[in-house]
Amino acid sequence: MPINPEQLKAQALGVLRQFYGYPSFLPMQYEVISHIMSGGDSIVLMPTGGGKSLCYQIPALLSDGCCVVVSPLLALMKDQVDALIANGVPAASINSMQTEAQNRDVLDCALAGRIKLLYISPERLLGDLDNWSKHIKISLLAIDEAHCISQWGHDFRPEYTQLSVLKEHFPGVPIVALTATADQITRDDIRKQLNIPDAKLFLSSFDRKNISLTVLSGYTGADKFNTLVKFIDRHHGECGIIYCFSRKNTETLAEKLKRRGLNAQAFHAGLSVSVKNAVQTGFLNDDIQIVCATVAFGMGIDKSNVRWVVHYNMPQNMESYYQEIGRAGRDGLEADALMFYSYGDVISHNRFVKESGQVQLNTQKLELMQRYAESSICRRRILLSYFNERIDHDCGNCDVCKNPPKRFDGSILVQMALSAIVRTDEKIGLYTLKDILRGSSSVEIIQQGYHHLKTYGVGRNLSNLEWNAYLLQMQQLGIFDVAYNENNHLKITSYGKDILYGREKVQLTQFVKKEFVEKEKPAVVEKTFDFNLTLSEQELFNQLKALRYTIAQREHKRPYMVFSDKSLKAMAHERPTTKLAFSSVFGVGEMKTEMYWKPFTDLIKRNI
Ligand code: ADP
Ligand code: ZN
Repeated sequence: MPINPEQLKAQALGVLRQFYGYPSFLPMQYEVISHIMSGGDSIVLMPTGGGKSLCYQIPALLSDGCCVVVSPLLALMKDQVDALIANGVPAASINSMQTEAQNRDVLDCALAGRIKLLYISPERLLGDLDNWSKHIKISLLAIDEAHCISQWGHDFRPEYTQLSVLKEHFPGVPIVALTATADQITRDDIRKQLNIPDAKLFLSSFDRKNISLTVLSGYTGADKFNTLVKFIDRHHGECGIIYCFSRKNTETLAEKLKRRGLNAQAFHAGLSVSVKNAVQTGFLNDDIQIVCATVAFGMGIDKSNVRWVVHYNMPQNMESYYQEIGRAGRDGLEADALMFYSYGDVISHNRFVKESGQVQLNTQKLELMQRYAESSICRRRILLSYFNERIDHDCGNCDVCKNPPKRFDGSILVQMALSAIVRTDEKIGLYTLKDILRGSSSVEIIQQGYHHLKTYGVGRNLSNLEWNAYLLQMQQLGIFDVAYNENNHLKITSYGKDILYGREKVQLTQFVKKEFVEKEKPAVVEKTFDFNLTLSEQELFNQLKALRYTIAQREHKRPYMVFSDKSLKAMAHERPTTKLAFSSVFGVGEMKTEMYWKPFTDLIKRNI
């Protein structure tokens, strides 16, 4: 047992380097570790990718006995255990996917003191409680995904509420509860339910600086699809997730992408278990590049090299949005979050909200989501303020910061739109309005005789995309309302009338068509890593990835468990050719040095 703080810190860093090959702790990690080592209880709130696991794994490695980790998700449990074993940490799990004989073996090892981290489901732990406390020396109890304890959250697990007995059963053992859900109700619930009134709260920033944020408004149909394809092309085979509105959408989109020669699959809750498993495994192994998914995809995905997330439609609230973009860039490297936002999304969501049990709450959440989508100030500021976190500067890594929107006097455009609404007695929806303005000769327009209107074709010089974007803004500015219960017909508000009759002027935001050509460098992402690869390094990086893939196949591991993208980039940059040099690369601990220095340095030597 270390005696003073300096010694403890030195030992913790030693373990970090030896097993994980990381040079230093991430923010808040060491504070948690030292509090745990002093015997206190803790509640740790960190965003996805913040490095929660090490907060209990390092104390486990520094203490005598075994750290018991309660985790609700079988798949995550397995991933964590595999990753630990790959780093040379004795870890195991007890769960219903293993045979009873296997579980018995694990218990024997734990009893013999040969396991440092034991992952277990809550029901299993509680069921075995009497054998446990008597025979195994438990150093620490870690409750992962601790928000599952809260009845108010969306992941509520009744078994978790039984965990309150742990404190009585193991009075001297520190408890650490970890989650990426930060709201106050959840925090209070965790404290109460786990019976840890004095637990120290560790709340880290929820800002994921490495994820760039972009929203594209008004894209529909072929414009939207082609823009998506360009965005994916720009990512040169890197893995990503596309969130869609419905199950059907995931399938049609995946089909269309496949027809473009892209490696995409659909994933939603309606698929058979075997198909779902195949897609998930394919994605984890880098065999599937793109998954078109409903919200069902992601829980239980611990893949660190998801490089981009697209919302093909606006999500229904900020919580989902934050959680879903958070699946990108867990390794801390640059990642892109792109959201498409169009008028159709507003219509679909409104229908959905109306059918939901909680109309008022969901309407409010939807409005906040829209406000984010339409923001003309730094998006990250809005996102973080939603989670009660304030930043006092613009982020420099969102589309608004990179291309500040320009405003112009849009009164004439508004008058064009509104006079068409007036001349059709407020009995048209947005798409018809757009057709009238652009002078379309669609069947509906001709049948209704709209081509005789005075406003027919007055907005011809603006593209479809431009009108989409401006009409969306008009709706948001309260110039007209959408009567959702009257076929979504547009009704002019009194504010709209003021503009129509020239009593008021209105500023609109200039629409700029987004081109995804070359990969842009983020403006001011904090430099936690400094390898922007040169062309030849990029070439080596690709070869290293191929080698990683071969090894992963052979060893039946996920590629990112062999090495993270970040480690491979560091290798491509540093080009270590000796075992010693290899061992000092980011993310290369002792175990991985032994296992992999030869094939990797051989490959690097061939490239010098
Ligand atoms: P969370 O559970 O909070 O989502 P993880 O524990 O999975 O986060 O960690 C996210 C990623 O960061 C993992 O790839 C992990 O290996 C890496 N990581 C954790 N701690 C450090 C550190 N001190 N230095 C570098 N990388 C780290
Ligand atoms: Zn910004």
